[in-house]
Amino acid sequence: MGDFRLGTTSYILPDKILPNVRFLSDKVDDIELVLFEVDDETNNLPDFEVIRQLDALAQAHNLTYTVHLPLDLRMGAAGEPLHRSLELARAVIERTQSLQPWAYVLHLDGVDANDYEAWVNQAVQSLEQMVEWVGAPALLAIENLEGYPLDFIDPVLDRIPVSRCVDVGHLWLDGHDPIDFLLDHLDRTRVVHIHGIGIRDHQSLADMEERQLRAVLKVLEQRGYEGVLTIEVFNLKDFESSLKALRAAGMS
Ligand SMILES: [Zn+2]
Repeated sequence: MGDFRLGTTSYILPDKILPNVRFLSDKVDDIELVLFEVDDETNNLPDFEVIRQLDALAQAHNLTYTVHLPLDLRMGAAGEPLHRSLELARAVIERTQSLQPWAYVLHLDGVDANDYEAWVNQAVQSLEQMVEWVGAPALLAIENLEGYPLDFIDPVLDRIPVSRCVDVGHLWLDGHDPIDFLLDHLDRTRVVHIHGIGIRDHQSLADMEERQLRAVLKVLEQRGYEGVLTIEVFNLKDFESSLKALRAAGMS
């Protein structure tokens, strides 16, 4: 069912990125490189030898990568040239660029309800800066987050032709209908994240009802979605049971 590229995260085994990618290379079409462990210092980035091997694995197995940028993109104060989170985003982009990622997924956070307009302006400016680094606005995929109004990033997306990353799990978590949201936004979506909601999010899709998974798969198929569908879980048990749940719901 569907023409999408199935993916999961680079943290399925309790190991580094490279052993994970080796393990997953014959199981998925895309791997989300999660660089959460990158902190204020850039020295936790994969080194050039790791990048070279990731590239070789991608070539050999027809894999793509999506790169999850490590921090919420927080806007600097007015007049501040480059906020720390932007510098870090640039370092990650430069390091991973030779992999020709399918998309760079990022969050727009730090919204100031008292000065929403200024926040929108700064978000647009930051994204314009990032477009210069990645080469094309469509490669930046802005993810919807839990706990925010569904339309809060829309004024930003109205002004710059970046893509969306639709996180179905976050929509479920907040009690929204992901089908309506996908129907509205799939045309502009490069990445869809999916994960189960149990006592928290990012759990196995086995926690969801089959009809919920079936509905998501059906929309992706009907719309001819050719982007990435990432099972966004972080251990082998959840990955395997999620795959089983998607197959039971009709994924071929
Ligand atoms: Zn996500």
